[in-house]
Formats: sequence, structure tokens, C-alpha cells
Amino acid sequence: QWIYMSGEYVKKEEAVVSVYDHGFLYGDGVFEGIRVYEGNIFKLDEHLNRLYDSAKSIMLQIPYSKEDLEEIIAETVRRNQLETAYIRVVVSRGSGNLGLDPSSCANPRLVVIAEALALFPKELYERGVRLASVSSRRNRPDVLPPQVKSLNYLNNILVKLEANQAGVDEALMLNDQGYVTEGSADNIFIVKNGTILTPPTYLGALEGITRNAIIDLAEEKGYKIKEQPFTRHDVYVADEVFLTGTAAEVIAVVEVDQRVVGDGKPGVVTNHLLSEFRKVTTTDGYK
Ligand code: PLP
Repeated sequence: QWIYMSGEYVKKEEAVVSVYDHGFLYGDGVFEGIRVYEGNIFKLDEHLNRLYDSAKSIMLQIPYSKEDLEEIIAETVRRNQLETAYIRVVVSRGSGNLGLDPSSCANPRLVVIAEALALFPKELYERGVRLASVSSRRNRPDVLPPQVKSLNYLNNILVKLEANQAGVDEALMLNDQGYVTEGSADNIFIVKNGTILTPPTYLGALEGITRNAIIDLAEEKGYKIKEQPFTRHDVYVADEVFLTGTAAEVIAVVEVDQRVVGDGKPGVVTNHLLSEFRKVTTTDGYK
């Protein structure tokens, strides 16, 4: 397996980073997770736009043009002879001294990993997942903008730990006002009386690429879909609930805080959107 590291392709065993890298010391950097479906790098433009926007927001200069980075990513996939894959793009602040001031870091570090995809088990899509709301809150947008996909994922890890402790598959994260925001690494949608709702990202959710693709698809297929704040109560009484994300694609939620959602099975709208989504994954992107 070949990994791209700031200018060269190195073997997996040799792909190591300095302990002085501020990505390691402070979580100072940004990243993307991208999928390749039958050679198509799904929504590559959208992922790169989000990466560059995240980097700009934290004043991290990515030392490559978007076009160059696009080519590096495509070449990493080709070198590893992958048709279906998961790509991780990481840009860290680079190596500096032990102080947290980023000005000691002269060279941001780019790493691109492409590997065979470990798919979620099929049973999970058939059965649906269970959620528990957690006590950790999504940080306020004026603290760390939720649009920034930074390397600092401790909050997401804490909510995952809480979900594990509750014995469920995924966490339901709220913001400090109690509005539903997202899961640990996925966006949330509910369906009620034929209308699909998802929280506005300003409440504290990442603007997911899959989320946006689902909004577009739902509109195209004639569903009523709105970005609207909602609480746990609305999730409990929804007809359907589903999560979206690069890894999960579209996955039904069948239980939330021990309340059964709808009839306890993946719903028709969820299944319809999943099948429509899978149709575009091999075409909408970079070949
Ligand atoms: N929310 C968070 C916190 C995430 O890390 C992710 C994963 O990337 C998502 C949502 C889903 O976003 P996307 O559909 O772009 O993968």
C-alpha cells in the first residue's frame, strides 16, 4: 500500500509523522474522508472545497492548488489499484516546536491514504441502528465553527464513548440549547407526515457532503424537505429517522433513547433515498 506524504509516495510501514507535528501535539489541522465507487471519486470537488474552506478558516495554507491535490488523490487511488475505496486526506500544521503557536510550523504536511473499504455490515442497513442522546454537547458555532472539519475530534470521540457505554450504535448529539445537531460523524434527518427535516448547520453540525447530496436528491424526487431546528421529542415521534455520512451513506435509525421509531424497521423514504443515492455514487464525481 502506497501513501502520499508531502511530495512522495511511501510504503505504509514507512508512512510516519514527526512527534513535533502540531496535528499530533494539538489536533491542529483539517481532514476529509472521501469514497471511491467503481473508480469514481465521489463528490471530489465538494470535498476539496470543504477542505480548503476548513483550512482557510484556521489560517492553514495548503501548499497545493486544488487541481494538484485532485491529481495527487487520483494518483494515490491508481497506485493502490483500487476501484472501490476510502480515502483520507489530512493536512496538518506541520512540525514546529512544543509551543502551540502555529508560527513555528513552517511546512504544512499533506497525507493521502487510500485503502480498501471496510463496508458497514449489510445487516445494519436491514435492521437499522439504535441511538442514544449523550451529555456532551456540540460546541457553539462561535467557538469552533461546525463547518471546519478539523483534526480535533475529541468531542466526537467523547460522544462515541457515551454511545458505547449506553450499548447503542451511535450517538445523538445536541447543542447547548438542546436542539438536535448530528451524530458522532454523520448528519441526521427525520421524516414526519411526508416532510423531511434536517437541522440547519448553524445549530452545530458539519455541512455533510452526503447530507447535501440527499437534500438535492430528495428535492429532485419531489419530497418536501426543509432545514429546520428540532428537539429530541421530534426525533422520538418521527415516522422515520436516518443518518447520512461518507462512511454510512444513508442508514436507518430504528430506536432512539429506547423509543422505537415508526414501526421499528427502516422506512420507505429512507430506503428510497438510499437506493437513489447509490445510483449516483458511480457517476457524480471525478473519474
Ligand atoms: N458530521 C461529522 C461531525 C462528520 O465528521 C461527518 C463525516 O465526515 C459528517 C457529519 C458527515 O459528513 P459527510 O457526508 O461529508 O461525510
